Amino acid sequence: MKLLIVEDEVKLNKGLVTVLQGKGFAVDSALDGEEGERLARWNAYDVVVLDIMLPKRNGLEVCRNLREAGKTMPILMLTARDAVEDKVEGLDGGADDYLAKPFATQELVARIRSLLRRPPLASHDIFTWDDLTLDTRTQKVTIKDKELTLTLREYGLLEYLIRNKGTVLTRDDLLEHVWDRNHDTLSNVVDVHIKNLRNKLPKSYASHIETVRGKGYRLI
Ligand code: CA
Repeated sequence: MKLLIVEDEVKLNKGLVTVLQGKGFAVDSALDGEEGERLARWNAYDVVVLDIMLPKRNGLEVCRNLREAGKTMPILMLTARDAVEDKVEGLDGGADDYLAKPFATQELVARIRSLLRRPPLASHDIFTWDDLTLDTRTQKVTIKDKELTLTLREYGLLEYLIRNKGTVLTRDDLLEHVWDRNHDTLSNVVDVHIKNLRNKLPKSYASHIETVRGKGYRLI
């Protein structure tokens, strides 16, 4: 799942990116409203975290512009404490949730997860596939209670495949949702990670990750 953080306080921005990456998300970030809007228009983010007070373009305007442009991804606004008017205006402008500063990072992570649970995205935290269980809260994958050791990218690929079971996912789909903008540009990066993921899964599971010739991959 890929997130965008738009926050001009450099320290907070970097801290959030680090924590969220550690939770298994691919994370891009912007330090002003203009850059944030540009990124959100051109990339497929699963959630955007948007501060209100931003240089160049404020968060409320960015949120309105994105909705007017037909972008439907969940948007979580960050507001100064007690700025009730901001909250009302933010929700009117198309934000899905808001969080008052200062906040505990755990709270932000919980809100992001809750936004990811809303339709059309999958509606729960734990996915099962035969004896395999994938817990999106802990990023743990177990098969019959035995934990599988996956890298963050392998985990991200598996989660995205499971969430989209039955759908053909192109390499671009996977790059957009599992990698952040700073990924290595090797054209076969997705194939390499799929291969590694298949190697770590028992054969009966690996064989269900189908290569769709000329298109991409599908979990069947
Ligand atoms: Ca700010």
